[in-house]
Amino acid sequence: MVAASDTPDGYVGRFAPSPSGPLHDGSLAAAMASYLDARAHSGRWLLRVEDIDAPRTVPGADRVIMGQLEALGMHWDAPPTWQSLRLSRYQSVFDRLLEQGLVYGCACTRKQLAAGAYPGTCSKGLAPGQRPRAWRVRMPQGAERFQDRWLGPQCQDVAREVGDFIIRRADGLWAYQFVVVIDDGDQGVTDVVRGADLLDSTARQRVLARLLGLQAPRVMHVPLVLDEAGHKLSKQNHAPPLDSRNAPAALEKAWRHLGFDPLPPLAGVADFWAEAVPRWAARFNI
Ligand code: GLU
Repeated sequence: MVAASDTPDGYVGRFAPSPSGPLHDGSLAAAMASYLDARAHSGRWLLRVEDIDAPRTVPGADRVIMGQLEALGMHWDAPPTWQSLRLSRYQSVFDRLLEQGLVYGCACTRKQLAAGAYPGTCSKGLAPGQRPRAWRVRMPQGAERFQDRWLGPQCQDVAREVGDFIIRRADGLWAYQFVVVIDDGDQGVTDVVRGADLLDSTARQRVLARLLGLQAPRVMHVPLVLDEAGHKLSKQNHAPPLDSRNAPAALEKAWRHLGFDPLPPLAGVADFWAEAVPRWAARFNI
């Protein structure tokens, strides 16, 4: 783990794949953007395996992803971490929030909830005989504003648009929104670069970071890779895994997806990064 004091003002980025299958064109574009940004800042780049959602975790997928990253010339700067090894840390943060009255048990079933913001049904306590299914964190009123380095100024009123959200699920698992904030804080992550599908999570994560006394990282959300039908490429909709045998071609494709002009002919993956990092730095005034 990287203590904040190891990197006084230094950049710390991370790639945080869910090990539900191998990397594909979509996850490579996000990984590439985060790696380029870290290297352009002469920063550190961490690898965190987000295996908190046990039912979606595919055994061995973490090793496959690591092998793919290595073949692509993407090297992490500290030993990888696994969320599944940090359950006691999540529990202790949860206990603290509970003591502070910032979380509450919720007995609502999915069926009882309409689409849209959680209306706060259980926020004043459960009726006798009701048992908590999930646990929610109380959201303060007010708009959360932040700057996205790709998309510009953003604003979301989490209390109004999302409501008190779940940090411990009805199946007992910790929610992604909760653990990602704790991990980014504990690892001293200064910059999150990831796919635009997570833009909508950012305000929630920032508010939660503040409740936990953590500094929220800067963010950049890069365009998603879509399939022909306009859906996000994902393991769930069976995106084909990357062909690591032709790493330069896979890198070039992700590079073009991020909106850059083709690079001069490349001798190999190291060549790709040597050409790409300064171009990234120039585009984002780093
Ligand atoms: N594990 C998440 C995913 O693979 C990414 C989380 C993040 O970058 O904040 O979609």
